[in-house]
Amino acid sequence: MTCSLASIRVLGEFFQVQAPMNPYYHRACFLKSAARLSQAPADIGIEVAFAGRSNAGKSSALNTLCRQKALARTSKTPGRTQLLNFFELDGQRRLVDLPGYGYAKVAEKVKRQWQGALADYLEHRKCLRGLVLLMDIRHPLMDFDLQMLEWNIHYGLPTHILLTKADKLKRGAAANTLLQLRKAFEERPEITAQLFSSLKQQGIDEAHQVLDSWFDLGLEEKKMASPPKGERQ
Ligand code: GDP
Repeated sequence: MTCSLASIRVLGEFFQVQAPMNPYYHRACFLKSAARLSQAPADIGIEVAFAGRSNAGKSSALNTLCRQKALARTSKTPGRTQLLNFFELDGQRRLVDLPGYGYAKVAEKVKRQWQGALADYLEHRKCLRGLVLLMDIRHPLMDFDLQMLEWNIHYGLPTHILLTKADKLKRGAAANTLLQLRKAFEERPEITAQLFSSLKQQGIDEAHQVLDSWFDLGLEEKKMASPPKGERQ
């Protein structure tokens, strides 16, 4: 029996399984951490940043999208959770893991410091092309998410929402949550959203396509982009 690519995709979607098809992102490797914007790599090329409340599934999503087991563990090591963590894809393109938010045990003063670094980054980073905002599908649009969306609208920064842990809801309920979210932002074409599950490997292609467009990546560029020089995890 022969199966077309389209029919395999339909089957994959039915079973909520999608194979990671885009190897470009597998090359991501840790570049550096920065406590404030002045310590960040030179503001050239293109960056796409990832943000979300702690426990939203950000590390799992980064690992899934880059098909690496421990890529984002760097951002979770003690002392690094409040830093901007930069991962290089090639000489011109980087992913940035922004500090998680919502650690109950962190003192107010520390929270203010990292909110400051985050705001500074969003406001001043010229190479920032888009932001991936991760929300647990069971608790979307919490205070932090609304604040991020407000900032992004203010700065005109395109934002793609990943409704993470989509496997935690039944298919219909997950689709309904996505629909509601899309409706809420129908006047804002710069805000897009999709379902995502690291556990079920769901939504990888769709997320890669958004990243490709922000990174100006066509097929040829993907082939030609030289791998990063940074240390591999
Ligand atoms: P972070 O704090 O935002 O980086 O979140 P993590 O990636 O560390 O995930 C937080 C928790 O959610 C962990 O226990 C993960 O195993 C779990 N988790 C992450 N992604 C998924 C998913 O797609 N499905 C399910 N069921 N659990 C997930």
